[in-house]
Amino acid sequence: MVVRPRRNNNSHLESCPKTMSQIETVCREFHDLFGMEPEFVVRAPGRVNLIGEHTDYNDGFVFPAAINFEVVIAGNRRNDDQVRIHSLVFHQTSTYSLNKIDYDGEYKWSNYVRAISDQLVKTGHSPSGMNAVVTGNVPLSSGLSSSAAIEVSSCLAFEASGRFTIDSVDRAVLCQSAERQFVGVNCGIMDQFVSANGVKDHALFLDTRSLDFRPVPLPETGVSIVVCDTNKPRGLVDSQYNKRRSECEEAVSVIAQTDPDITSLRDVTMEQLVVHEGEMKREVFRRARHVISENNRVLKSVDLLESGDIDGFGKLMNESHVSLQKDFEVSCLELDTMVEAAWNVSGVYGSRMTGAGFGGCTVSLVKSDFVDQFEQQVQAEYRAKTGLDATIYVCSAEAGASRIR
Ligand code: ADP
Ligand code: MG
Repeated sequence: MVVRPRRNNNSHLESCPKTMSQIETVCREFHDLFGMEPEFVVRAPGRVNLIGEHTDYNDGFVFPAAINFEVVIAGNRRNDDQVRIHSLVFHQTSTYSLNKIDYDGEYKWSNYVRAISDQLVKTGHSPSGMNAVVTGNVPLSSGLSSSAAIEVSSCLAFEASGRFTIDSVDRAVLCQSAERQFVGVNCGIMDQFVSANGVKDHALFLDTRSLDFRPVPLPETGVSIVVCDTNKPRGLVDSQYNKRRSECEEAVSVIAQTDPDITSLRDVTMEQLVVHEGEMKREVFRRARHVISENNRVLKSVDLLESGDIDGFGKLMNESHVSLQKDFEVSCLELDTMVEAAWNVSGVYGSRMTGAGFGGCTVSLVKSDFVDQFEQQVQAEYRAKTGLDATIYVCSAEAGASRIR
């Protein structure tokens, strides 16, 4: 299956026909459910990370873009403590009180909304009750961060109904804390950050330690970001993700014995790592080597993109994949097959796995004239070698979350 946005206009709404119909749909459904027009409509996008994988929980650098797939919420204020939210994806309505925000074991999607209101209360904001309808076209659990999209859009909805505003960097941090504390996922800051702060036609160079960031323009024409979902169920991902995190911590603790100023792999140079190579397990050394080399690749790739060297940028994407495959060991047969199929297509600048790994998606930079050929060739080769169908998304870089009405 191929999902492709229509190109291309200056206005955000016109460049996102899928979102336009999502807005119409949530407004219509809101009216049907609550008998009135919504007071506000908000949106927040999913994201794809171009380079900088497994660096965010090591205080490192990432280089994601917000994309043209998003969660949209229509709502209005209630003058009591009740939140009533209906999901058009799950066809379920969840109701709870802001005075007693419990985890919902049945309608799990509602926990992302609950999490945000819980975090708003804990940080001294005063959310009001609201009626709302939520929809979205970010594929769920495919690695395009639909969770960040629903969190950031929920935050904007509570800001609109509660009549307060939060700075967009603080909003991202609040959403990350919500996912960690209430949903129980030990996530980094990247997803929420780019969903909240993305810039149209730009990728976001982000330092996950300082939260300094810089939008870097993507080529105006001729280059497409193509995301391919392997459609492989991701069984191993949680346990292996936690294992990688602790292996990175182990490398830091070895090096910190001689240099106590080092608190994360962000502080370690390749030269320092090599000095300590004999003091750590081989596996731990290789994990650290990935993170340090990946941080270096992000810094280089930002320079290359800023100087218009897309070929050089693509080569770094390819190197990133090999490092994730061989040193960090988070790839799998399906991801490798998909990436190798992409490498075989002429007109591909670079291709790599993106996200936590063990399934999920790849991201490729493709000359726009070659996108059709890419789709056919990658789909056919992937199907022949794995027996699975890929889902292919032709993406554009979009603005971060906003209130549209
Ligand atoms: P990812 O962030 O990679 O898409 P996650 O497992 O972190 O995957 O988050 C996916 C979950 O987010 C979904 O199972 C659902 O609970 C919630 N979610 C995302 N988008 C929506 C939506 N439009 N409506 C309701 N829930 C959503
Ligand atoms: Mg997620």
